[in-house]
Amino acid sequence: MKRWLPALLLVSAAAFAQAPQEGVDVKKSRLLLLPASTVERSAAGQYSQLMRAAAQKGALNNDKMQVERLRNIARALIPHSARFNKDAERWRWEVNLVSSKTVNAFCMPGGKIAFFTGILDSLQLTDDEVAVIMGHEIGHALLEHGRARMSEQVLKSVGISIAAAVFIMGQLSTEILAQAANLAVSLPYARKQESDSDLVGMELAARAGYDPSAAAVVWHKMSKLAQTTGRGQPPQFLSTHPSHDTRIKEIEANLPKVLPLYQAARRK
Ligand SMILES: [Zn+2]
Repeated sequence: MKRWLPALLLVSAAAFAQAPQEGVDVKKSRLLLLPASTVERSAAGQYSQLMRAAAQKGALNNDKMQVERLRNIARALIPHSARFNKDAERWRWEVNLVSSKTVNAFCMPGGKIAFFTGILDSLQLTDDEVAVIMGHEIGHALLEHGRARMSEQVLKSVGISIAAAVFIMGQLSTEILAQAANLAVSLPYARKQESDSDLVGMELAARAGYDPSAAAVVWHKMSKLAQTTGRGQPPQFLSTHPSHDTRIKEIEANLPKVLPLYQAARRK
């Protein structure tokens, strides 16, 4: 059981780590009881199951041009991600495209990215817009929002205090972990987590040479889509990434912090 203690000490140090001075100012999640390696392993398992299921339905990476486009954008964003989380340097990133009307995209802990054709088609996304959405998703993973949620879910499901959890964490069943990982991708993010991920996404996009002001456009498009679908099925993206009134204002207020990075990247 002792082997968990160093991991927990590391966690509390990482929880207060801040992004570097230049660019946006965000903090990582605090409740990170589960070791990152456990969370990443569990997420990787869930991700490969999802991709296998899509492949069996003949719905995986059908549009070669779109897959290549997504992977090129990811290749441009990823080198800048270690600024927000050093662990990202050793992540085994994956980017896949699932054919489905679902309007959604995600990045699981450890850099497992998926886009659904629904989000590309219904929002007619430009490269800049794909970059800020992908950056936003990567932001959730870098700031360890999924890891925090999985930690919360595990605490809830086993019904124990944090102090007790420290001692039993090593004995958690893979079933409990898988359940927590599932809930962690289906529950909505908190408002602060959404705002912080917006900022990370804008900075990653800017540093990679994509226009960060596309973030505001994406949210305008998203809310328009939600209105036109009316009482029908709202975009799934909005149920896991709840929008709030001040979101676009915050994006616009933070643009001056990232526009110089975008201009510098364009000059290269
Ligand atoms: Zn989000």
